[in-house]
Amino acid sequence: MSLIVQKFGGSSVRDAKHMRNVAGIIAETYLEGNDVIVVLSAQGDTTDDLITKAEEINPHASKREMDMLLSTGEQISVSLCAMALEAMGLPCVSLAAWQVGIQSTNVHSDARIKKIDSERIQAELDQHRIVIVTGFQGVDRQGDVTTLGRGGSDTSAVALAAAFRADLCRIYTDVDGVYTTDPRMVPSARKLEEITYDEMLELASQGAQVLHNRSVELAKKFRVKLEVLSSLERKPGTKIKEVTKVEKTNIAGVAKDTSIARIALIGLRHNPGVAFQVFDLLSKHNINVDVILQSIGRQDSKDITFTVHKKDLEDTEQILEEHKEALKFDHIEADDDIGKVSIVGAGLMSNCGVAAKMFEALYEAGINIQMINTSEIRVSVLLDEEDVNRAVKAIHAKFFDEV
Ligand code: ASP
Ligand code: MG
Repeated sequence: MSLIVQKFGGSSVRDAKHMRNVAGIIAETYLEGNDVIVVLSAQGDTTDDLITKAEEINPHASKREMDMLLSTGEQISVSLCAMALEAMGLPCVSLAAWQVGIQSTNVHSDARIKKIDSERIQAELDQHRIVIVTGFQGVDRQGDVTTLGRGGSDTSAVALAAAFRADLCRIYTDVDGVYTTDPRMVPSARKLEEITYDEMLELASQGAQVLHNRSVELAKKFRVKLEVLSSLERKPGTKIKEVTKVEKTNIAGVAKDTSIARIALIGLRHNPGVAFQVFDLLSKHNINVDVILQSIGRQDSKDITFTVHKKDLEDTEQILEEHKEALKFDHIEADDDIGKVSIVGAGLMSNCGVAAKMFEALYEAGINIQMINTSEIRVSVLLDEEDVNRAVKAIHAKFFDEV
């Protein structure tokens, strides 16, 4: 007998028909003799609809009250799911996070799980009940409901799997796994049988939107075996784990991100401490910087180019202009018509041909690279935004269609 955590996303429980389908999957797992903890998201667009409702009343509502409101979506899902299982004659109980004791920080709308009490859920499992828990929410020290950030139900599921040392955490969604790139854009994209935690983290932070990033971090930390699969088709999904048996010569996938902007500081002094001054200033204003490139200095000046999120572009320019005298640069050049394309793969940096292959694909497509940035398992290039989709297709074809 195993303990299995099953998480279903909003689209998988969007109406009565889908909820019954989900109940069927849960029932099957339970009747095979497993202990089952279920985690649910709010039905369909419920969370967005609740936000709209709040805005109609008060566009500046406090985050505490927003959490009070948004947490109701998941509560609807778990009770309905329990009713569906009751109708099938199966023993079950639905629980909100505060009943379980999913203790979190008190940062409303972006709380972190600190600890999960095990007594209540364990008592229910001991009674052979299926336990259905609200995703996305926690309870703070005062007993107030918190939420974990949009998409946070994945994290609830992984945290429960870690706390109860589950044998497997299955994340059911409306896609049937993790693909080598977005299959809507590249029809020849392939589903991966397996992927490592690190690869999944890089893909998620480079724009692939399959799993909540924090859930993957947590899974890696506690070695939770994850599987992403479809709630509509009964077929194997993608397994996310520490080591995979994937051919190490190939990459795991290609991701794109068009939410970035580039800023160049031209004519900085060429002495120690300049980069420190610039990035210290930005970090004090909570501006995240991604790719950084410093030019080889001319006689007494140099340029530093970096990327920020598009939404931070204006603020960044303004902050830099305000400190122009202290930083002593000549002028700023900003460009928000850029995008980033990345390849991710566990064996990438120990295999020098891989980066060259990516650059070859771009060369053959006549696409100019503006900046390059690498990590142990990733190579990213900055391009004109209009070239991004073409670049993804060319790179994907190079790695996956040519034999
Ligand atoms: N219902 C929440 C959201 O829409 C949490 C989740 O679905 O994971 O963001
Ligand atoms: Mg989600």
